[in-house]
Amino acid sequence: MTDKIPTITRDGVIGYDATEIVTIDQATGAEFARYPVAGKDEAFAAVSAARSVSGAWWDLGFEGRAERLRAWRRQIAASGEEGAALIHAENGKPLDDARVEVLGTLEHVQYAADNAARVLERREVPGSPTTPNQRAWVEYQPYGVVGVIGPWNFPLLTPAAILVDALAAGNAVVLKPSQITPGVAEWLVRAWQRAVPELPAVLQSLNGYGATGQALIEAGLDKLAFTGSVATGKTVAAQCAQTLTPVLLELGGKDGVIVAEDADLDEAAAHVVWGAMQNTGHGCISLEVAYVVESVHDEFVRKISELAGQVRVGSDEDAEIGPVPLPSQTSIIREHIQDALERGATATVGGLDAVGERYVAPTILVGVAPDALAATEETFGPTLAVIKVADADEAVAHINAGRYGLGSAVFSRDRGEAIARRLRVGMTSINDALVFSMNPAVPFGGRGDSGYGRKQGEEGLREFAYAHSFTAKTGPARFSASTFGRPQGAMAGALAGALNRILAESGEKSD
Ligand code: NDP
Repeated sequence: MTDKIPTITRDGVIGYDATEIVTIDQATGAEFARYPVAGKDEAFAAVSAARSVSGAWWDLGFEGRAERLRAWRRQIAASGEEGAALIHAENGKPLDDARVEVLGTLEHVQYAADNAARVLERREVPGSPTTPNQRAWVEYQPYGVVGVIGPWNFPLLTPAAILVDALAAGNAVVLKPSQITPGVAEWLVRAWQRAVPELPAVLQSLNGYGATGQALIEAGLDKLAFTGSVATGKTVAAQCAQTLTPVLLELGGKDGVIVAEDADLDEAAAHVVWGAMQNTGHGCISLEVAYVVESVHDEFVRKISELAGQVRVGSDEDAEIGPVPLPSQTSIIREHIQDALERGATATVGGLDAVGERYVAPTILVGVAPDALAATEETFGPTLAVIKVADADEAVAHINAGRYGLGSAVFSRDRGEAIARRLRVGMTSINDALVFSMNPAVPFGGRGDSGYGRKQGEEGLREFAYAHSFTAKTGPARFSASTFGRPQGAMAGALAGALNRILAESGEKSD
């Protein structure tokens, strides 16, 4: 080990001189594994190796790629328990939640393999009145080499949902995982190497801190997909702007849930507590603020407080939420709880005492000021801020006034869809929580500070291809030949003809 590594945690570590990552087993806090850190040279080598195979990967065609994606899926499934154990160790989430990441990844690979050809195949488009002598079509070409910078909270599912789209669209991918979870990325890449031995460099991982992410971008990507904080998202977008490299940004959220007066409160309470606390609240789409209509407020608070108080925290086999793997996160959670309490909120469950060094227990904050940190900034912890509102309209206004716009939820027996459609967010689940993230056919992404671009679904596949438009001349031009020598008066006649047709459509007559 080099003495240049100041700490085995990630906080404050950035720089090309950090040469080793030491991960910890989150259950015990003991050293888990060591990984060399990739610097500029390794980043350039990885991108160059990816570029050298990207043509061969594209040349396989949609069917050829689908065949290999399915082989990869078999390898992921076959070593699924190993992958889940790595997620459990490096991230700390319960083993069953880790298995959910593996299962979700299998579904994403299947969707991409089954649908890429349909979504991205060559598409004929109609000719226009001015170009009736032309056939036109669109082909969707891969960018080339896509860099994927991933987070620690869903170390497998989040980057996998992105990179399967990129691969299926015909790109080669270099993944830079979070320094907290490099083993998960390496496991995914090993499964690829077993499945596609003839083209191993189509999917590679590059371990390191933020500086390795910077080096990956500097190495000359054709597209970057980033998942993480708003601050880092802005940094990488600015870096990509220097080379006009297109970016997909999947950033944080402050997801609101509306509980209307006609909600089924038992259902709502069960889903909201899970949506807020699962994965220790470490989800960009975790529910963070509940806007509850006053007629059902007190009963709803009683129900969620009872359920949240029963959530089992720890690393034992029966734990439902695990530790906080990012040490700086606990101070953010503490600050948000403290700020809410100082502005008049009450903790019906948890509170400041819930925040330990490595574990944070569920906290329900009631009577939270709408401008408190817990109501406006991403907490990324097992906390829920509750705000009483007069009606669903006030709740919609609160959510739409926020700077984020990722996910949301609405609970209402009769008006769920009507309320949901007024929210300016990327995704909404009605009478349930977070389920839009579980269907690979559903586009996933946000607006505002939650970023731009989409993974998953048809939009996700198109995100990693650019449109190449073609026209081919099929006969002589009628009046608008794209050569000089146009007949005198042809355009005046065409304009007069267009006017007559437009007036005839609207039933008017020309003067
Ligand atoms: P970051 O945004 O710092 O990290 C996300 C990824 O970007 C990691 O792989 C990180 O590497 C990498 N990275 C960091 N700096 C750079 C850089 N300058 N250039 C390129 N890549 C870089 O998130 P954190 O892990 O620090 O989490 C902080 C906050 O972000 C959380 O509190 C939460 O609010 C939010 N977050 C949101 C997520 C989401 O799903 N939308 C996921 C994770 C965090 P490394 O970690 O190795 O340093």
